[in-house]
Amino acid sequence: MIVSVDSVFWISHLAQTAPFTGPNALDPSGLSFSPVKLLVLIGWIYLCLYCVQRVEYSPLVSERYKPLVSVFSLVVGPFIFFVLAVADVTTKLQEGDIHFDDILSYFFGNAFVGRKKLGARKAKDEDFIELLDSSGRNFFVEAGGKDLENLTDQKTLEFTHRILREGIRQRASDILIDPKSSGIYTVRYRVDGYLRLVEEVESDRARAMVNSIKAIAGMDIAERRRALDGAFMARIAAGDVYFRVASAGVLGGEKLSLRVLNQAQGMLTLDQIGLSEEGYRLVREAIDQPQGMVLVCGPTGSGKTTTLYGMLGEVDFYTRNVVTVEDPIEYVLPHASQMEVNPKANITFGNSMRSILRQDPDIIVVGEIRDGETAQMVVQASHTGHLVLATLHSSSNLATLARLIDLGVKPLMLASALNVIISQRLVRRLCDHCKQPAQLDTEQIAGLERLGLATDGVMQSGGCKNCNYTGFLGRVAIVDVLHVDDPLKASLTGEGVSLAQLKQDGDNRGRSHLRREGLAKVAAGITTIEEVKRVTTHLG
Ligand SMILES: [Zn+2]
Repeated sequence: MIVSVDSVFWISHLAQTAPFTGPNALDPSGLSFSPVKLLVLIGWIYLCLYCVQRVEYSPLVSERYKPLVSVFSLVVGPFIFFVLAVADVTTKLQEGDIHFDDILSYFFGNAFVGRKKLGARKAKDEDFIELLDSSGRNFFVEAGGKDLENLTDQKTLEFTHRILREGIRQRASDILIDPKSSGIYTVRYRVDGYLRLVEEVESDRARAMVNSIKAIAGMDIAERRRALDGAFMARIAAGDVYFRVASAGVLGGEKLSLRVLNQAQGMLTLDQIGLSEEGYRLVREAIDQPQGMVLVCGPTGSGKTTTLYGMLGEVDFYTRNVVTVEDPIEYVLPHASQMEVNPKANITFGNSMRSILRQDPDIIVVGEIRDGETAQMVVQASHTGHLVLATLHSSSNLATLARLIDLGVKPLMLASALNVIISQRLVRRLCDHCKQPAQLDTEQIAGLERLGLATDGVMQSGGCKNCNYTGFLGRVAIVDVLHVDDPLKASLTGEGVSLAQLKQDGDNRGRSHLRREGLAKVAAGITTIEEVKRVTTHLG
């Protein structure tokens, strides 16, 4: 407040004296020394310089406009300073971080903090981030000062840190950096399956960021067209986060996709995945069997791997030898042997299976059954004293059977190997902080009541700071669990099983089962009718 009063005073004072123009221009009294004027001038200059610093650290000014706002700050610093301080307080008030009673103390407490403290605000515990190369060394320390200067400056590094840290904070599964027309790059996060524009960055700065990420991920910076991949790690206060990086030359520049594998977020346990009580019991029983097969199926991005890890969470690693083959390894399991598929080094699911079988495993985890060789080997293994947990890309439970037969597995072998098939889709989970009772139309009420579900617990999305004003926070699976029981085994091995018919029946059954499971979650206020409709209309 004082600032504005000062500046208004100073300007009105200037206007009155107007030392360099008008009839008084030559009046010597206009140029006379006045300690008040001097103090005000010093104050103004100080605020201008201070404001440049403040702009640099302010989250309220977009990176793109920072240079421009800094130039303005040099001239009209106090005004910008005042606007920023008011905007800061208003945002904090909206976010509920401060209360009305604290406005003044917050305003003055934060108005004149030094550069160190401005920077230190970023370095709070939750903001700590250190970038490490894929073998866990601090790349920038290892590379030495000279390389650091060549590759990236401190400002770029700070910017890269911020983009990564913010991505982790917002639980992004992917961070995408793409060149757009007119010299702008976009930074987008994929959160709960949805892409969200985060920032537009001018191309020079974006290219510097792309280079810094490529350098730390062990990729060739000079190669801007050919598709490359690499990996690095970020250490944050909560633990380690792995990034898989892929780059490719596209129209207008180079795009970068970062897959975020957050160890710190932890694995979901089997009971957190979204199984019904009956489904949980069936899966739990199948895992306790010494041999057999549990398959998780669904389209890409349906949470199959999460369910796979959830099942592993139920396994006693001390009494059972667990070996996995994955593409890529998404979570590090401290007590399992994990292998990663690498086609370049000729490590495929098929030939990994052969080496796994020599390691005397009790449980074999196959990230994805993609080809006939792997399919036949896992079915074989599940007959010879191993429990196989695997995922398969397919639309429904019965379609999975059709797909495996299509891959060359004999129906008789399949029928005796399989215990349980889990088919699933992911829906967004309503944010618990802001969801509110939903208004349903008569058709929706009738639809729920037909399934014997109560309608008074149905909720709809709101929007708050916790969910970034999307109304949703995290996801939950809707799951159709199929127990491969004797009648099903008999029908599989019977005469004239038509694969097309099996898939058709499976999709019909899958659609109605998934919808019922989904609507049960709607009735419980966990997700919305629209979400369930979205994932069950086309089984894909
Ligand atoms: Zn919310």
